[in-house]
Amino acid sequence: MSPAALGKKDVLITGGKIAAIENTIDVSIRGFDVDVIDGSEHFLLPGFVDSLVHITGGGGEGGFTTRTPEMNLTDATKAGITTLVGALGTDATTRSLPDLLAKAKALNEQGLSCYCYTGSYQIPVRTLTSSVMDDIILINEFIGVGEVAISDHRSSQPTLNELAKIAAEARVGGMLSGKSGIVSIHTGDGRGLLDILHQVANETDIPITQFYPTHINRSRKLLEAGATFAQAGGYIDLTTSTTKHALATGEVKSSQGLKYLLDNDVPINRITFSSDGHASLPDFDDNGRLLQLLVGDESSLFQEVKDAVVEQNIDLEEAIKVITSNPADILGLKQKGRLAPGNDADCVLVSRENLEIETVISNGRIMVRDGDAVIKGQFES
Ligand code: ZN
Repeated sequence: MSPAALGKKDVLITGGKIAAIENTIDVSIRGFDVDVIDGSEHFLLPGFVDSLVHITGGGGEGGFTTRTPEMNLTDATKAGITTLVGALGTDATTRSLPDLLAKAKALNEQGLSCYCYTGSYQIPVRTLTSSVMDDIILINEFIGVGEVAISDHRSSQPTLNELAKIAAEARVGGMLSGKSGIVSIHTGDGRGLLDILHQVANETDIPITQFYPTHINRSRKLLEAGATFAQAGGYIDLTTSTTKHALATGEVKSSQGLKYLLDNDVPINRITFSSDGHASLPDFDDNGRLLQLLVGDESSLFQEVKDAVVEQNIDLEEAIKVITSNPADILGLKQKGRLAPGNDADCVLVSRENLEIETVISNGRIMVRDGDAVIKGQFES
């Protein structure tokens, strides 16, 4: 699937790229050592693109002991994620952009394609070079800015002008470096919902597509506001990591949110899922007492796509777009999100029977084979 269904094909991978996709490819050429993977009982999907992961950990909102750990390589690879974007979270004091960048470089060395957002929840946003624009232009891994928080008691309560200025810097930084310069927006459960983004789009020259608000399934009200935002031309992102308590108190499961949006005529190319992996996820009992602190789970990304297919009856070739071609397009990653000759060889082989992830290839390297991680992070056992 490209993500559109291509039928039964052979795929040739060489030098980290997809060299050819043909009905049959003869690999019996003398002198070449070719590893053949039989996918006749499988679907071959583009490697998953996760547009928001707290790769260095997040949280800390219950004190220092509640800071979540950094992610491991296999947290991504076993979940089929071959491209991801790291971000700081609520805490941009004890978490830093140099640390984020170093972790992204490590994941890249280990075979993934990892990018980052410069900036932070709070305004003035943190930067490496003292400018959002310069960070995006000069530092390869930085493709945008975020998560900048709005409608949240933890945000800096940004004004229209403050938000427009950040978006303008990111936009021009992106233009000058051939990147998206996207502005990832953390949306809280505050009263303003997405209003300030509409205001920037209506009252300045910044287009609505510069913004990429996430956590849109946090509540039914925000989901409805998200539908309006997407109908106005904007992109919206649903968060797949959740808890039973969150779902019981108003959060909408991503797969159900996707169904709602499609039923309300939101074009699918404006919708994405991200895992919010390694964010802290407080879990409460029925009386609102903190039970435990969980960690955002990267494997929820594809699980919600599976649920969209199995429980919501959305076609796999449609549902899969929200974690492949759609985020790749929004993030400006031209080599990602589609199986096509010349693109990076990122693919996920899933069982045709139950959609279990079996084999994951990232930049032409087999990371997971038959469900087992064959490449592990430096300190993973
Ligand atoms: Zn967030």
